[in-house]
Amino acid sequence: MTDNENRTDPELMEAEGAEQAPAEETEQAPKQLPTAIRALVRRCCQGFRPPENMTVSEWADKYRELSNEASAEPGKWRTSRTPYLKEIMDSWNDPNIRHIVVVAASQVGKSEALNNVIGYVIHQDPGSILLIEPTIDDAKKYSKLRIRPMFRDTEVLKKLVRDAKRTSNNTMLEKSYPGGMLIMCGSTEAHALASMPMRYVLGDERDRWAGSAGKEGNPWDLAMARQTTFYNAKSFECSTPTIKGASAIEDAFYTGTQERWCVQCPSCGEYHDIRWKDIRFEYETAENNGKRTYKATKVWHVCPECGYIAQEREIKTADAKWIAENPSAYETGTRSFWLNAFVSPWKGWLAIVQEFLEARDDQERLKVKYNTLFGELWEDRGDLETEDEMMARREPYRAELPDGVLVLTCGVDVQDDRLEYEVVGWGQRDESWGIRRGQLMGDPAFPETWEMLDDILNHVYRYEDGKGLRISITFVDDGGHKTQYTRTECAKRANRRVFDIKGYGGDGIPYTAPPNKVKIMINNRYVGSCYQYKLGVDSGKQAIMNALKVKSPGPQYCHFPLNEEAGYGHKFFVGLLSEHLVYDPKKKNKWHWEKIPGHERNEPLDCRNYALAALKALNPDMDAMLARRNGTVQNRQPAARKQQTATSRAQARRTMEQRAERMFDW
Ligand SMILES: [Zn+2]
Repeated sequence: MTDNENRTDPELMEAEGAEQAPAEETEQAPKQLPTAIRALVRRCCQGFRPPENMTVSEWADKYRELSNEASAEPGKWRTSRTPYLKEIMDSWNDPNIRHIVVVAASQVGKSEALNNVIGYVIHQDPGSILLIEPTIDDAKKYSKLRIRPMFRDTEVLKKLVRDAKRTSNNTMLEKSYPGGMLIMCGSTEAHALASMPMRYVLGDERDRWAGSAGKEGNPWDLAMARQTTFYNAKSFECSTPTIKGASAIEDAFYTGTQERWCVQCPSCGEYHDIRWKDIRFEYETAENNGKRTYKATKVWHVCPECGYIAQEREIKTADAKWIAENPSAYETGTRSFWLNAFVSPWKGWLAIVQEFLEARDDQERLKVKYNTLFGELWEDRGDLETEDEMMARREPYRAELPDGVLVLTCGVDVQDDRLEYEVVGWGQRDESWGIRRGQLMGDPAFPETWEMLDDILNHVYRYEDGKGLRISITFVDDGGHKTQYTRTECAKRANRRVFDIKGYGGDGIPYTAPPNKVKIMINNRYVGSCYQYKLGVDSGKQAIMNALKVKSPGPQYCHFPLNEEAGYGHKFFVGLLSEHLVYDPKKKNKWHWEKIPGHERNEPLDCRNYALAALKALNPDMDAMLARRNGTVQNRQPAARKQQTATSRAQARRTMEQRAERMFDW
């Protein structure tokens, strides 16, 4: 690479001019001018020193110091420590390559690779760099914790770099050096620089960028537009991945060579990248005060080709190389790389599995682990079981009401020719039990249809010990063609907490809110009013999907009865799993729920959603409910209670054993 072209960079001339000619110097006595000019020339010439003809990794090995505050291993940079970064960094020196994409787990060193590129550019091939972080706060943090320490501790950079002014609107941070400037900003501010040509564009944490920079559009496209004047421009974008189908870095990865870091199997000699699906582990569980804790005890890798079982050490010392799935993209100038944490020298496999175990019961945390730890995209339905698997999860209830149920709610969906309902039992920490569901055939315009529903709503549901529970609250959807009849029937049953609801899709609508009064009009005549709850149904769908992913009884877990009269057959599960979250950047609500092909009937999901919303609106004190339930049971039938506890313990143990057998399904 030569740097001749730098001298004609318009932004360089501007930057140099601005820095080198302070007004008071030019106004001084003429005989001092040569000094100023000499200084100017000297400084300009620093930009002309010949490059050392080295690659980024060679530069880093020779010059780069890792700082205390930013590195687990401060001191001299050694590329041999993270051999997978060598090719990523050195592709920067390949004149054919204009665009580098890195998808990576955290703790594999991708930020340091990015920093090495910055250091190399400043020292060896100067030009202006635009470094874009998701937000201006991220940019400030990156500047303070990563960039400033690197400039301080790496001697050759210390001599070249100085802080430039902050721009007046405080949305950018600048460092200047001979031959260019490093400008750091947030993705929402990228448009502020639209007029400035930039030879180098670096995008960090791409998947957390704003969808658009103000009205100007996609921030990455805006950043790329600055490079058009440079035949030798380069860009580098990196990120931990996020959600499949909604990941900018995933899209970018597929435009490139799609290289994965592959390790040679000690047995069959084939090369594979180390993926989570091929990792196996063992663990122990303990239960303390109702909270389950896990401890990972063993972890190994199974070769997807030959089944060879390899230990972590074997994998980390085996021969490894980048293998491209789409090598032809090299011709178009884009190399893309994908890395997960299993190759990191800083992250042991046991620690990875331990983190996974600690997150497994919480979908939000688990999603983050998929992204940051495994470096894998999260598929929203990816680990959701199919309807068949969900059916296989059904369990025989020993009574109409299993012991953990403390509150009953009901959700009703109104169709033109029928009512569909589900009665759901709720326990502590959102554990739930499907109790009964079904269809009541009949036109909702006729009171007779609703009288059938009364049989469900007035029924006393019994525990094994004979005690009973009634439905506390019922939510009935008035959407569709029978709105006014539905309202009429709800109004009649208001004293039994049967409420009309209206569901709204889209972001930012609270799941439940206090009810409003709405009119009931029959034949255009006002006949009365009823309470109506407005529901943000999307939040409910997400909560239900999250709960369905919990695989072991306890908080959030959904139980379903095997007992035939309860009505939980195949159709129910197809309907329950009928929708998934889809990302479409063109739509107003970028995230929206869509029916999955083959799952056209979604009433079971709606009914479950209304039953959950009813619970949230009721907001019962579950501890008090539990105390009441225990108290009653203990007073009346202590022996039966004791026996039951032993039985449920045995049942819990059996479930754990079954789970241990299924462990490898993860
Ligand atoms: Zn093998």
